[in-house]
Amino acid sequence: MPPKPTPWYARAFLGVDTGPGCWESPRKGPKGRPVIQLGAGRGHQLLSRMIYTLFYGPPKGWVLHRCDNVRCIKPSHLYDGTAAQNSKDMMDRGRGKGQFQHGNYPKRWLKP
Ligand SMILES: [Zn+2]
Repeated sequence: MPPKPTPWYARAFLGVDTGPGCWESPRKGPKGRPVIQLGAGRGHQLLSRMIYTLFYGPPKGWVLHRCDNVRCIKPSHLYDGTAAQNSKDMMDRGRGKGQFQHGNYPKRWLKP
């Protein structure tokens, strides 16, 4: 029997200093944003989005950082950016899953 794969949330905080400040992940991803592999054949997801979903439920829009630190995965530093966007942004950019996975979003969204 092969060993049971470790769930992603058990790996998410490995190597992360969970101190009073930002929890910076050493993982790498598009534009410095940490990603994590969910399981064999299930691809990678942005870690910030997965952490947000784990703690607060699925976000309606983009998961953004209050601390402006893209490496940070501290749950209290993450928020659903939907309310911060106007409807024109959503019409212009779309909100497809594929776009998010490929880090295809306007940089200004990182600085609310
Ligand atoms: Zn932070």
